[in-house]
Amino acid sequence: MQTVMISPAELDGLIQIWQKSYPVYVPALARPAAAATDCAPGWRRILADEPLTLPVGPTPASVKTFFFPQPETMMTFSLEENHPEGGGMREPLDSRGMQVVMGVRPCDAASVLLNQLPFAEDPFFMAHCQRTALVGFTCETRLSTCFCTEMGGSPYQCAGLDLALTPLQEGFLLEVCSEKGEILMAGCNLVAASEGDLAALSALRQGTAAKDSPQLEGLKACALNRLYDAPMWQELGEACINCGTCTFLCPTCFCFDVQDEVVRGQGRRIRLWDSCMFPLYSQHTSGHNPRGKKLQRTRNRFLHKLKYFPDRFGPFSCVGCGRCIGDCPVNIDIRAVLKDLVRLTELE
Ligand code: SF4
Ligand code: SF4
Repeated sequence: MQTVMISPAELDGLIQIWQKSYPVYVPALARPAAAATDCAPGWRRILADEPLTLPVGPTPASVKTFFFPQPETMMTFSLEENHPEGGGMREPLDSRGMQVVMGVRPCDAASVLLNQLPFAEDPFFMAHCQRTALVGFTCETRLSTCFCTEMGGSPYQCAGLDLALTPLQEGFLLEVCSEKGEILMAGCNLVAASEGDLAALSALRQGTAAKDSPQLEGLKACALNRLYDAPMWQELGEACINCGTCTFLCPTCFCFDVQDEVVRGQGRRIRLWDSCMFPLYSQHTSGHNPRGKKLQRTRNRFLHKLKYFPDRFGPFSCVGCGRCIGDCPVNIDIRAVLKDLVRLTELE
């Protein structure tokens, strides 16, 4: 893995080189700019010669929108009898090339790796992974809502990133972490990082590394029934208004709905974001709803992240970005839920 030292001006120069070959996206810091985006809510293309500006902490919108876009066209079809497609369904042709997403934080990069577990056999998600290069910035500043280290991450980790930039006094230490990162850096003659710079990065990583947590491992090992019937769900279910904000902001939530839409005889099957917090999400065609009560939906969201997902795939389905904490209108905090669950496992 190559590591170079790069000045802010050189970074701006690199972005301009990338812009000639690829669309380069950055976080949209204001909501009006987000509305005018040509790609995904919360992101926009960086303008020519525009200096890079990043928000402190995680980007307002997560990167999942690039891998799990809304809507995703899964098939197209025609209802016209004489149409060449003959009423059959056709897979969408995706001729889009590589795209670069800049400003990704380590927690979001980790979320892409986590989402590859349930989406491993999903051709749409995996195609977006192949064509998307993530250029990330490690975190000098942690917000009060950030808790990546509690969930096994670190503000200085680069897992899931193609290029990782760490700010040091003289500029950025840029690590090339993948083949896509090598493609982005091809032909760039930059000064290799000095021993001192590498030592500084190593010290930052050591000082902020995630600590083993026997309590969280105990939660993974705990029998589901002890958690499922806990009294805490009653209070949480009463407080939650099931607005779905947490699930739409969360980089690791991936509930979706599939719909067909037809305009003038031409149709497409699309996949849209949905939320397990919405009552209709789990309603059966018969009218029966196994999660018809708020308590059941709230419990499902937390147990999915903290029990069902680890039971099936190993890790927790939460990277500690804190978005759901910051934007929940009734101040539900997943860290408090986690603490309560751990306390339950320790009883007896
Ligand atoms: S953001 Fe808060 S109130 Fe809204 S669904 Fe999530 S937990 Fe419930
Ligand atoms: S559950 Fe909350 S803190 Fe965890 S990844 Fe999702 S939004 Fe971030």
